[in-house]
This record gives sequence, C-alpha cells and structure tokens, in this order.
Amino acid sequence: MSKQEFKHVSYLWDENVAASMKGDEVQLLVYRSNLLGADLRLTNYGGGNTSCKAIAKDPLTGEEVEVMWVKGSGGDLGTMKREGLAALYVNRMRSLKNIYRGVEHEDEMVELFNHCIYDLASKTPSIDTPLHGFLPFKHIDHLHPDAAIAIAASKDGEKITKELFDGKIGWVPWQRPGFDLGLKLKKCLDENPGIVGIMLGSHGLFTWGDTAYESYINTLQVIEKCAEYLQQNIQQQPAVFGGQRIESLDAEKRKEQAAALAPILRGFCSSQTKMIGHFTDDDRVLEFVNSNDLSRLSPMGTSCPDHFLRTKISPLVLNLEPQQDLSDLNAIKEKIAPLFEAYRNTYTEYYNTCKHPNSPAVRDANPVIILYPGVGMFSFAKDKQTARVAAEFYINAINVMKGAEAISSYTSLPRQEAFNIEYWLLEEAKLQRMPKPKPLSGRIALVTGSGGGIGKAIAKKFASEGACVVLSDNHAERLAEAKAEFVKSFGKDAVAACLLDVTDANTIQQATKEATLSFGGLDLVVNNAGISISKTIEDHTEKDWDLLYDILVKGQMLVTQSSVGIMRKQNMGGDILNIVSKNALVSGPNNAGYGSAKAAQLHLSRLNAAELGKDKIRVNVVNPDAVIAGSNIWSGGWAEGRAKAYGIKIEELPAYYAGRTLLNEIILPEDIANACFAYVGGLLSKSTGNTINVDGGIAGSFVR
Ligand SMILES: [Zn+2]
Repeated sequence: MSKQEFKHVSYLWDENVAASMKGDEVQLLVYRSNLLGADLRLTNYGGGNTSCKAIAKDPLTGEEVEVMWVKGSGGDLGTMKREGLAALYVNRMRSLKNIYRGVEHEDEMVELFNHCIYDLASKTPSIDTPLHGFLPFKHIDHLHPDAAIAIAASKDGEKITKELFDGKIGWVPWQRPGFDLGLKLKKCLDENPGIVGIMLGSHGLFTWGDTAYESYINTLQVIEKCAEYLQQNIQQQPAVFGGQRIESLDAEKRKEQAAALAPILRGFCSSQTKMIGHFTDDDRVLEFVNSNDLSRLSPMGTSCPDHFLRTKISPLVLNLEPQQDLSDLNAIKEKIAPLFEAYRNTYTEYYNTCKHPNSPAVRDANPVIILYPGVGMFSFAKDKQTARVAAEFYINAINVMKGAEAISSYTSLPRQEAFNIEYWLLEEAKLQRMPKPKPLSGRIALVTGSGGGIGKAIAKKFASEGACVVLSDNHAERLAEAKAEFVKSFGKDAVAACLLDVTDANTIQQATKEATLSFGGLDLVVNNAGISISKTIEDHTEKDWDLLYDILVKGQMLVTQSSVGIMRKQNMGGDILNIVSKNALVSGPNNAGYGSAKAAQLHLSRLNAAELGKDKIRVNVVNPDAVIAGSNIWSGGWAEGRAKAYGIKIEELPAYYAGRTLLNEIILPEDIANACFAYVGGLLSKSTGNTINVDGGIAGSFVR
C-alpha cells in the first residue's frame, strides 16, 4: 500500500529519518512508537505498547544475548523516549513459564519481571510485557485503535475478523492482560501459523513485522482495513445510533447552558473530593447523546479497559431538556439529585456484588462522565488533565459503539471482568504510588488584575499549589503574555484567561463564565485589580473619585456578587480574598479618594463575610503596603510623585519604604501571594472577616 492509499490513518514514515537510525533497532522502535502515538486514530492517549527484540552484549558475560525493549509502565507512545522503555533478557522472561503456577497466581509474575531486567536503568516493565515476550517477532505493536476495538467489541467480532482478513488475523477472546494472556497469544500463533496479527476480544490489536518498518506498515494496513470496513457499514446503515431523537441547541446556546449547569454538577460530583470539570460539545458526542440509542447503549458501559478505567463503566445521562430554564436553582437541584443518588447506589451495588475478599476499599461513587442531550458532555476528575482525558476516552468509546453497532451489535465487558480490572490490586498499587495532591488541587481560582504585579504573583502561587487558574486583566497584551508564561510553567490544562474590566458587569460575567466552562466552577476569588490616585482635596476631580470607587469598591462588589452566584450553585463553600491596603486603616494627606475607597473595600469585605458565612464562603483581606516590583499602580506617575514628595530618587523608594517599617523589610508581590495562600491553604479554614497586614510592620495600621 502506498502512502496515498491510507484514508483512515496517517502514514508518517520518513525514509531519510529511518535511514539515519539504521542498525539501531531501539531507536527505530522509539521512532515508530512516536509516529503511531501521533495519530489518535491508531491509539488512545497512554494506551498500547510497542517492542523490539535485538541481540546485545551481556554486560556480565560479554556473550551475545537476545534482549527485548518494550514500552514500560505508564507514559504515552507519542512522546515516549528511550528512557520510557524496559529492557529484559528474552530467555529469562520466557523461562518464567517453568515456575508459573496458573492464572489465579499470575499477578505474582509481575514482581519477577524485575529479575529479567537487562538494562538496570530501564523503566519498570508493564503488565503487558509477557504479551510481547512470548511472541517471536522482532518488532511488535499493540494498539487500541477505535476501528479495531469496534470489531473486537462487537457480538460477531471473531467471525468478522476471520472473514475480513481471510484468516490472516487471529482471535483471542477477552482476558485481562497478564502472564496468562501472553501464553494465549503464543498459543494462537502456534495454532494459526502465518497470521500477521491477533485481535484481542473487547480490547485491541497485536500486529508485527521483522523490521520496524514492516511492523509499522502492517499495523497501518490492518487498522486501515478495519476502518474502511466500518465506514462502509456505517454509510449503509439507515441511521446511525438508531436515528436522531432530539436537535442540538446552537453552539452559542450550548455553551450558555453548559456554563450555567456546570457548577451545579460539580457540586454533586464533589460530594467526596473536590473535582475539576471539562465540557465538550464535539460533533461525535452530540450525535450520540441526541440519538435514539443513547438510552440503550449508555448503561451498557464501555468496553476496552483503558476506557472504563478513565470514564467509569457507564455515564450519567441528565433528564433535562436542552432548553431547560436553569435559573431556578432549587428546582434544578431537585430534578438532578435523584439521578446522582441512583448513580451512586448502582456503583456501590456493583462494588458490593463483584468485590473479592482482598479488594481495595470502594472508591468515589460519583460519575465521571455526564451526558446532556442536545448540549454535550461534562467530565469530572481530580484535575483538569484527567477530566479532559476522560472526555477523550469517552469519545473513543462512542466511536467503538458506533462501529460495533454498524457491523453487528455492541457488547460491553461483563461487570465482573470490569470490576476485576478496576479494582485490580496492581491497579490499586499504581494509584497508591501517585503523588499526594497539592494543597489547592481540585480548586479553581479567579484573580482580577493578574496580568502582572501582585495579581500575577498570587495566581502563580495558587497554580504552583495545584489550583486551576483563570487569569484576568483589562490589558490584553499583558494578559496574553501572562497566559503564555503560565502555560509554559504549569501546562495548558491548568490555566485559562479572560479580559476583565471590573467596572463592566458584562466582562465580569464573561470571566466567571470562563471559569465554569473551562473548569466547572469557581472556589477562590481574589479581588486584586486596582488603581491609585494621590491628590489633594482641591485637585481631586469628580472623575478621579468615580474612577477610584468604580474600580476599587464597585468592582470588588460586582466580582464578588457574580462569584457568589457560582459558589452557591456548587454548595461547596468558597473563598473571597480582597487585596486592600494599609491605607484602609491609616490616614494621611493627599489620599482622600484612594484611602476612603480602600476603607470601603475593607468594610465591604466584613459585611460580605457576615452575610456569606452561612454558605461557608469566607471573605478575608490582605493589606499590602508599598509593593513596588511589577506593580501597575506604581507606573504612570505615582512612584515619581511619591519619590518627589519624599525628596528621593525613584530607585530609592523601596529602601525608603522599608526604612519606615518596624521590620525594615521591602515588600514583594510574592509576600502578598504567600499571605493569600495562608488563608486558603487549609490552616486558616475557620477564619473569616479577617485582615492580614503584609507591610513590614506599621504601628499605625495595627488592626484594632
Ligand atoms: Zn492493551
């Protein structure tokens, strides 16, 4: 098959690149793996593994031995490097057969893979290692392409595979990956000499070749053929998924509904652990959720283990009309609450029915995938990346169901098999090895004026402590720069950005909507945006006065108001932090507008704290003073004016201000960020209506 003939997969092999790696089978393996992983139609994120076998020198004996390099535990083919491989002595791995005690003891073999390691620096071997090890081929690909799984998960999968490939692809029925499945693959090959691959029931595909290229092209050809077969059948169907049951809302409306509903769903999903949300209205999702077959297919559950480990076996389908009026919070909650109740009960029942005496404790019973017909799909997980990837996996599952239904009928894994994977002790051990969550993980923060200065420092602190952050600023360029910087430091999943002018209620709505659409809700709001004007009473114009009060006081009020609306929908409490100023407490000349507005901000914070306590929403204040580094306030003449007033140079200001403090300290944006984190990091969770001065110590601003 030539490059142009592939329609359903991408042929990416570059002969020149491959030629430069000639003779280095491991490098060619990495190259091939990256090409395979780059096309999500070939395998899902983190799914599948590849291997090669080559002769190498034994470091102990100097003799030539056969070594297998195979993708190690974890990692993704698309980005895998040499370090992502495990290297094992082939003869040692195969000799484990001699001590193998049978399928009920196969988990103990995993430990023994470590005794077969050739390269001591290599990655931990994965559970799929014996699947590659017992096959004799030099290069092997094991992938989870939707097109192959659709056949593998259909009722007549075995028959279809046999007919479609003229007996050239073998079939091994579903079995949990492990030592025993490795032996089954070898048996299938022995009984069917000449096959070019093996389909694993409800799971995926094995294909191989004598060289890296031969394996690559074989893999592509097999998947192309599966995909072509599916497409023909899908086209011949009278209707996909039994035909369309309802119409989608238009794109704008879908986003509106999703943004309005997400915090309510997040509240339910976070009954045990705070979750982050993801929303998509991808065409493939809409086709499925709007279909007649949704009610039949969705409860059946996903098939490939990779899918349901990420998505839970089945999704929750909402009982709302696409147009549903979401303004009556209590009415909506009353409608949705029984759905969650039923979902959790079903999950607990599944656990209780399937559990073994040594099974790990039951995990969070809330749904991961939530389908809203006419609108789209929500997913909730411990962080944004996990939520996004869960959504991608459910789209894989939709593709599989669509294909399987077009050629035969879709079958899901038996519940007990699914349970045995989900609560597999080896899977549990993997979970236990995960790093502990950071203090702000699962929380969503909006910081106003975070394009620079104090705001940016606060956002950075929150992101580094695990929060998802919505950056906002009224200066587009500053905002874009800050976003780029955050994406680089914290990854694209953890950050969103929105232009925000705190005097404009519309842009405030946009910013809070950004938080709910990007992450599912809002937990931490920092009112930081501000300006300062220092003038005598005579010089103070009405315009100055309005500007100060609009930005500082009304801005704080409007952002708080909009955020509280979301927090109440979630019913998970929340934190409002107001960055005020020492000037709220200390009086001085030429500061009537700014100082009184700051005092209003302070008292407004206390009033809000008094009103919001019943919702577990805490409102606290940080009073910075004389933070110069990176601040917007200090540009535009203010610093110059102050320096002139004190008879010093601008660059002498920090030391001058430090000299006025009891501790003789220069105050940095990071100091303010740390104070904010102190409020929300967990240790001060029973404190509201409070003020922390971060000013190096100024007796005049001691709180009384
Ligand atoms: Zn697999």
